[in-house]
Amino acid sequence: MTSWPHEPVLVVGAGPVGQTTALLLARWGVPSVVLDKRPARDLVGSKAICQQRDVLDIWASVGAGEQIAAEGVTWTTARTFHRADELFAHTFADAGSSPFPPFVNLSQSRTEEILDERIAAEPLIDLRWGREVTELTGYLAEHPAPFTVLCTGAAGALRRTLGVTFDGFSFDDRFLICDIRTDLPGWATERRFFFDPEWNPGRQVLVHPCPDGTFRIDWQVPADYDLDAEVASGALDQRIRAIIGDRPYEIVWKSVYRFHSRIASRMRVGRVLLAGDAAHLVSPFGARGLNSGVADAENAAWKIAHVGYGWAPEELLESYHAERHAAAAENLAVTTATMDFLVPPDPERAAHRADVLARAAVDPAAHAHVNSGRLAEPFWYHESPLTTPDPTRPFGGRPARGEVPPPGPGVLVPDVPWVPGAPPPCQQGDTPDVQCPQGDIPDGGRPGSDPPNRLRALAREGLLVLLACGADRAAADAAARAVAAPVRVAPLDPAVAAALGARPGEAWVLRPDAHVAAVVQTADLETALCRALGHPTAIHGIPRKEHARAVLPPLR
Ligand SMILES: Cc1cc2nc3c(=O)[nH]c(=O)nc-3n(C[C@H](O)[C@H](O)[C@H](O)COP(=O)(O)OP(=O)(O)OC[C@H]3O[C@@H](n4cnc5c(N)ncnc54)[C@H](O)[C@@H]3O)c2cc1C
Repeated sequence: MTSWPHEPVLVVGAGPVGQTTALLLARWGVPSVVLDKRPARDLVGSKAICQQRDVLDIWASVGAGEQIAAEGVTWTTARTFHRADELFAHTFADAGSSPFPPFVNLSQSRTEEILDERIAAEPLIDLRWGREVTELTGYLAEHPAPFTVLCTGAAGALRRTLGVTFDGFSFDDRFLICDIRTDLPGWATERRFFFDPEWNPGRQVLVHPCPDGTFRIDWQVPADYDLDAEVASGALDQRIRAIIGDRPYEIVWKSVYRFHSRIASRMRVGRVLLAGDAAHLVSPFGARGLNSGVADAENAAWKIAHVGYGWAPEELLESYHAERHAAAAENLAVTTATMDFLVPPDPERAAHRADVLARAAVDPAAHAHVNSGRLAEPFWYHESPLTTPDPTRPFGGRPARGEVPPPGPGVLVPDVPWVPGAPPPCQQGDTPDVQCPQGDIPDGGRPGSDPPNRLRALAREGLLVLLACGADRAAADAAARAVAAPVRVAPLDPAVAAALGARPGEAWVLRPDAHVAAVVQTADLETALCRALGHPTAIHGIPRKEHARAVLPPLR
């Protein structure tokens, strides 16, 4: 059992991204102190409601994903309307072998409660309310922490003290959000998106099913919208009745929300990492806000653990910026394209939107151009410094909506069952057991003790090398032993090999966030492992054996 050799990591902000960061750190046996300026958890309504499958999977690794999925509403169909006409309906494909549906809807408040329950059961997390951090350098001088993760949301004070800018813009239009409890037969598992309905002319309305007979309605409203005045005049009631008719309803939560498109200039400053809304804000169409914040948390946690334990060099932290800033930029590009369609900024784009919506009523080929948001998806680290490119598996670019790229360098591995101790894939002598040549992955607060039964769960235990049939096991073990981090080597069973499209002789390197770092021959495995761990010599193409061991500068 390896124990954390430093003070606890400082996590500033106990929103869902800070909570997830602390839980994921604990999974690596890394203690943290989480500070939040609020006096206590105030459960203020639904906020981010739409949780994506791969994010549920990350939460599953800290024991929360199954509960969030079970309590959430699984929606299966997305209907899109223009004025009074339904343009098309999209039903999600079968979940395949994933234990999670593509999306579930659950209020952010309930998600935070579930994460709090996990935190309460986690001795490695010290969560303190009513603690505002106003200036980081001074704070760290008094309360040394080896690493800090800023999960402070949109608030900018600490970001500014780091010299990080937050460029972008804010939209004039607002969103009125009402969660109402009512009975809407047929709407319980369907999302409805209305372009330009007669009861919100010129703007959009979105209706999402939520648990307990609740529906989340978002109306796009003008910048000068006055909620109090609408409540007082009865116009809010009329607004709701225009959608649900004459049936009884109860308002559970209401709010007016302004959204922004902004990205931090840096997501890593020394040993401070920025995550979640502290690093990026996007319009909510596509549910890319919180979902991408959780992916930040996972990326930050395994890298902090690997650097802190001395398994990887300091440079691994820089890859956090490279990878998650690229992911944030992708999210900005995708959501900006959506906003350009929803609120065209010029006559040309307004004409394009009108044309697409008109054609979509009669021509199915136009449906793909109706942009009501490209839903959240994992980012592809194909250009990351940690990824070894494979010329035979070039990245094909952003896949079609709702599809995933084929397995290859940078891509999240498919979610397929893993059978512990499965027979080797061929007759060429690979040994069947998963081996951990260097043992010692701390088991921290990992939920459950059963051996992983899914490839992604196995990958999330630490760096993993999977050998296709005919790969040289002895060479792979030697490469695994040559790096400082714990690396497990296992033969690919035939079903997983088929799901990956693995070819004979290949070694697949999976990162601790289940993304593929490399697909190489075993002769190149050590270099690929060094590269996945951020060793600069491997990244820059001059692998040297002596750099395979991490050199860690003294920590404070
Ligand atoms: C009304 C509303 C509706 C939304 N709807 C959607 C949606 O539909 N879809 C979507 O994806 N997203 C939506 N969002 C955004 C979503 O809620 C955020 O993406 C999410 O909360 C980000 O989580 P976070 O942990 O990064 O930040 P936050 O949830 O903002 O948490 C930040 C925490 O840091 C604390 N903090 C800040 N500064 C300090 C400091 N100096 N010291 C100590 N503590 C500090 C704060 O008190 C807070 O608890 C919505 C947001 C709002 C407000």
